[in-house]
Amino acid sequence: MRILLIEDDSLIGDGLKIGLEKLGFTVDWFDDGLDGKEALMQAPYDAVVLDLGLPGEDGLDILQDWRRQGHKEPVLVLTARGDVDQRIVGLNSGADDYLGKPFALKEVQARLNALIRRNHGNINPLITYKDITFNPQTREITKDGKTVVMSPREIALLELFLLNKNKVLSKEVIENKIYSWSDEVQSNAVEVHVHHLRKKLGKDIIKTINKIGYILGEA
Ligand code: CA
Repeated sequence: MRILLIEDDSLIGDGLKIGLEKLGFTVDWFDDGLDGKEALMQAPYDAVVLDLGLPGEDGLDILQDWRRQGHKEPVLVLTARGDVDQRIVGLNSGADDYLGKPFALKEVQARLNALIRRNHGNINPLITYKDITFNPQTREITKDGKTVVMSPREIALLELFLLNKNKVLSKEVIENKIYSWSDEVQSNAVEVHVHHLRKKLGKDIIKTINKIGYILGEA
């Protein structure tokens, strides 16, 4: 899942980018409010982590602008711990959740997973398809009850397919979801990952739709 992170504190920003990427998210990090605000228009983000005090443009103004323009991406706002007023203003401005600083990475992960799950209309924290089960929090995948070992990028791709069952995903859409601006993408990367998913989960798990893309499920 691709996350837009807007945070000007370099320690927090760096820690979140590295930490969330280790947990399987794709992260674009901006430390300036104006650049971050524009970034939402440039890629298909699954959620946003937004600091409030930012150079360029204040986090609350950014959020209000996005909502006015009709952007529906879930937004997790970072606030000073204990600052109730800031939290209330954030939630009233269109934030979906908030987290007080300092916070634990695991909690950011859990809140992002919950926001993304709800945004896709899923109530169950586990995502299942036939005999395959995926736990977004532990990143564990089982097939027929047995754990399947997969690379972080393969897991990210499977998660994308599971959240978009019965939808054809083009190679371009897939690339935009599982790679950040800073990643170098080989031209056949998606084909290679799909090949690996089929090898590990069964050759019929993902179908190729000629010249359009790939699908998990039925078109
Ligand atoms: Ca700040």
